[in-house]
Amino acid sequence: MSNDKKSISDINVRDKKILLRCDFNIPLDKDTGAITDDGRIISALPTIRYLLDQGAAVIACSHLGRPGGKRSSEFSLRVVGDRLTELLGKPVKVAMDVIGEDARRLAGALKPGEIMLLENLRFHPEEEENDPEFARELASLADIFVEDAFGSVHRAHASIEGVSHFLPAVAGFLLEKELFHIGGALLNPKPPFVAVLGGSKVSDKLGLIENLLERADTLIIGGGMAYTFIKARGGDIGASICEEDKLEYVRAVTVKAEKLGKRLLLPADSFIADSPEDTNPPEVVLSFNIPEGKMGLDIGPKAANEFVSIIKDAGTVIWNGPMGLYENQKYSNGTRMVAIAMTDPHIISIVGGGDSAAATRSFGLEGRVTHVSTGGGATLEFLEGRALPGIECLLDKDDTSI
Ligand code: ADP
Ligand code: MG
Repeated sequence: MSNDKKSISDINVRDKKILLRCDFNIPLDKDTGAITDDGRIISALPTIRYLLDQGAAVIACSHLGRPGGKRSSEFSLRVVGDRLTELLGKPVKVAMDVIGEDARRLAGALKPGEIMLLENLRFHPEEEENDPEFARELASLADIFVEDAFGSVHRAHASIEGVSHFLPAVAGFLLEKELFHIGGALLNPKPPFVAVLGGSKVSDKLGLIENLLERADTLIIGGGMAYTFIKARGGDIGASICEEDKLEYVRAVTVKAEKLGKRLLLPADSFIADSPEDTNPPEVVLSFNIPEGKMGLDIGPKAANEFVSIIKDAGTVIWNGPMGLYENQKYSNGTRMVAIAMTDPHIISIVGGGDSAAATRSFGLEGRVTHVSTGGGATLEFLEGRALPGIECLLDKDDTSI
């Protein structure tokens, strides 16, 4: 795993044609086809503006939805081109194809300071197959490849990894930011390093638990996954969510934590109810003594206070997975308290995971933590310490070839 990759600010892009891989996989209204959330387009602007200001010609590309390897007007990137035109205040030509005649003609005529957009990469099945010939055709449009679609770097697709065999490849600002914050926290944490894990399933987070157990000083386990740990230690968890087939695994994790001298904390108490739909106010009980038929749906107040004080004493905190069924306000207290503790300005605080990011946003705290990762699956794999194809293929910082 490396976070020492070259970025656009390390190279000269003037008068160069840049193939820029963006994440324009934005949500569209099913009926009208209009963009319902342009957040991903907006977040691509700093890289695009920088490249244009530096005198590069930008050939942007992205996938959108799942057109299944076929051309389809429903998944055309024209809507993105229109929105980019408005946001940049300059025309963004959209090619009628990806590597065809129109793309080649427009790319060939593109001048420094101009930008165009290729059609949806997934109109070609070769994109997801990482077909070398398709990658070579894509690469032939440009002089340099810039990777900025962090959410896709765990996929070895032609526009993510394949093109790097034909062009020098560097990171754009969005990717650079993720590498800096997540890579930095994992490889060079300011101690004590605390990992807070939650969410519903242990089985979703096996790699994450393993990697963070090695790297962090303290592992806090909350959310639904805590009950599998509690049951493995002989606790009564009532009807709480539990993965029977992971009991052995979590026992092994507990043993390993002891061996490594790491603290592994579970929630002392829990808010319980008959079911998520239960209309009575939730009760608080000890997490090891949950009555039969009741389920733990949030960490309790004692657990939340304990977790908060450990987070506040940390140097670096990585948090993935809500502490409870936060979508229901009744069970959002633990998640909210963890999110608020993360905003302590002394801590390097990293939030990863779709639901954890959504929770942080819903509490209005997104701007007050060090970094909220945008990657979903890519973030999880990065946090697992895996080598990701879209990152590994980039030039190292000390490479002198460009
Ligand atoms: P992320 O997307 O941040 O990686 P996950 O997808 O792993 O997080 O977990 C989020 C889900 O876990 C949420 O839908 C939340 O309601 C659920 N969850 C958390 N705690 C519990 C619990 N005690 N019982 C049931 N579901 C829970
Ligand atoms: Mg999720």
